[in-house]
Amino acid sequence: MRVIVQKFGGTSVATPEGRENVVKKVQEALNQGYGVVVVVSAMGRAGEPYATDTLIGLAKGIMKSVKPRELDLLMTCGENISTVVMVQTLKHHGIEASAFTGGQAGIYTDHHFGNARIMEIKPDNLRRCLEGGRVAVVAGFQGITPDGEVTTLGRGGSDTTGAALGVALNAEVVEIYTDVDGVMTADPRLVPQAKSLAVMTYNEVCEMAHLGAKVVHPRAVEIAMEGRVPLRIRSTFSDSLGTLITDGSAIGNIEIRGDKVVTGLAHIAEMALVRIKSEQDMNQNGKVMEVFQAMANAGISVDMIQVAPFAIGFIIKEDLAERSTQVLGKLNLEVLVQKGFAKVAIVGSGMRGVPGVMAKMVRGLQRARIAIYHSTDSHINIACLVRQDDMCNALQALHEEFQLGE
Ligand code: ASP
Ligand code: MG
Repeated sequence: MRVIVQKFGGTSVATPEGRENVVKKVQEALNQGYGVVVVVSAMGRAGEPYATDTLIGLAKGIMKSVKPRELDLLMTCGENISTVVMVQTLKHHGIEASAFTGGQAGIYTDHHFGNARIMEIKPDNLRRCLEGGRVAVVAGFQGITPDGEVTTLGRGGSDTTGAALGVALNAEVVEIYTDVDGVMTADPRLVPQAKSLAVMTYNEVCEMAHLGAKVVHPRAVEIAMEGRVPLRIRSTFSDSLGTLITDGSAIGNIEIRGDKVVTGLAHIAEMALVRIKSEQDMNQNGKVMEVFQAMANAGISVDMIQVAPFAIGFIIKEDLAERSTQVLGKLNLEVLVQKGFAKVAIVGSGMRGVPGVMAKMVRGLQRARIAIYHSTDSHINIACLVRQDDMCNALQALHEEFQLGE
């Protein structure tokens, strides 16, 4: 049987109109002859009665500390409610459907409450459901340990459920439905010229997600990539095909070019820059080790790391600036921690080994008179740190320089 997995986010299942649109998408897939597995998130966002954050507030409102085991049991209720509401809605439209918790769907995880990893999927119940001509509606974001404990997969984990079920059921595609038309070349709230991308590679979308673009959970992309199942990010509220995410090969009659120099832009706001200088060689006097060990001991994650004998630089989240100043102040070095920075990055899986990409990035920023304070790169991105006030202009300048709107 041809199987499709359709994952619907909180905004898609929150309202009756949203759920009517879900029914439409399910019906379209049934009409094409697919066995359909629907994965649902909890209904709505913080403040709405069944949203994940609302449920968390219910427990924390009594006492701030909640055992991770109990918190997981509570959080999974949001998705469980969505499955039954969705099954009722489908049945109301004459579509036979059954609801499953993560455990009932055969999703087995480790014991890491709050951020469990899927170890194995035994999809027999789901297969039987599909073979019986019914739609399977599965609660996202949750699983069960082999000894029956209920776990969650980390915030945003319903995407992970969708991708993992897609791999386990050998689905033709996993569709991730949200309230935007796929992955955009940049955040449209900051760059009005941003447009939706028709295709991109797993690596590119993963990189954009890690760099702050919030369309899909990076773990879901990694699972789909390993299992070689294509993902499609699309809107519940429109007919647009959204963005197809796959590797560099051909799918149907579209060729996916995995060699675009720059595909899109990403950004992370509210970062602080840490700069450490010394007259002495910090490799030789052990200060390099001391600096990073001190940050590690304080539980502070560092990013955009640069080490040289007489200078160390990295960035941290802005709200950790005071704590970092305190921790590093004890090391007897010249330390400068400055708030008010943002990271802007260009992403493209074809930039490796291509000359002139950084030159173009610098030209774009310079034309807009934007100073670069720090930079790092990987094989598929170049990130520059700019002043927070320049972030929006920087993104617009780069979007234009790399002609992403065309
Ligand atoms: N409801 C969960 C969360 O808010 C999972 C998800 O929506 O993907 O994190
Ligand atoms: Mg989500």
